[in-house]
Amino acid sequence: MHPVGDTLEARVLEVQERIAVAATAAGRDPADITTIVVTKFHPAQLVRDLYALGIRHVGENRHQEAVAKHNEVADLDLTWHFIGQLQSNKARAVAEYARVIHSLDRPSLVSALSNQDRQVDVFIEINVTDVPGRGGVLPQELEALCDLVLQAPVLNLRGVMAVAPVDEEPARAFERVLGYAARVQAMAPAARDLSIGMSGDFEEAIAVGATHLRIGTAITGKRPTGA
Ligand SMILES: *Cc1c(COP(=O)(O)O)cnc(C)c1O
Repeated sequence: MHPVGDTLEARVLEVQERIAVAATAAGRDPADITTIVVTKFHPAQLVRDLYALGIRHVGENRHQEAVAKHNEVADLDLTWHFIGQLQSNKARAVAEYARVIHSLDRPSLVSALSNQDRQVDVFIEINVTDVPGRGGVLPQELEALCDLVLQAPVLNLRGVMAVAPVDEEPARAFERVLGYAARVQAMAPAARDLSIGMSGDFEEAIAVGATHLRIGTAITGKRPTGA
């Protein structure tokens, strides 16, 4: 393992270097990979600091925190990604600041997002655990959900998203994700993006074709509270 830098800049540079190495090893162009820095639980100042270091994609998982932070740094030209479990009654509000929603996982969210005018990029989140209550559509409901998304003019389907289970080799879980991604692409050939890879598994994710990494602690350091 590489030593972890003790400044934000050192961590950003180190993660960027590891991404470049993993991409090159997989015969991929690092420029094809979007790194979203997950800033949940951190203050808006961290978003400013990241911006000063060249970061342009940030991710949040709770609406209330996200909208407050977004408004505090509204002067920055950032792309906001919503990555957490989303309640239908918050979906419209999230679409006002998030250009990408990674956690679309049920029909009621498609309806809620269709009730507003903004174009939103979406990933269908798939539950790759054995636990039904986790975020993500169950694999057996994937095609039905995909069909609804494709019928919604305001939704631009980018691909699939998943969080690897903590108790399984990420590479194994990612292999299953590739199978689900292929099923989505059979219905929507343009939906080729893969939102997989977090602090603990982004190199494995890059090896199997991740296009969107959602990286928190490896860049931000420990989160101030919880999670
Ligand atoms: C918090 C979070 C991440 C980032 O996790 P790290 O392990 O800190 O990189 C990525 N994806 C989702 C959905 C998250 O909630």
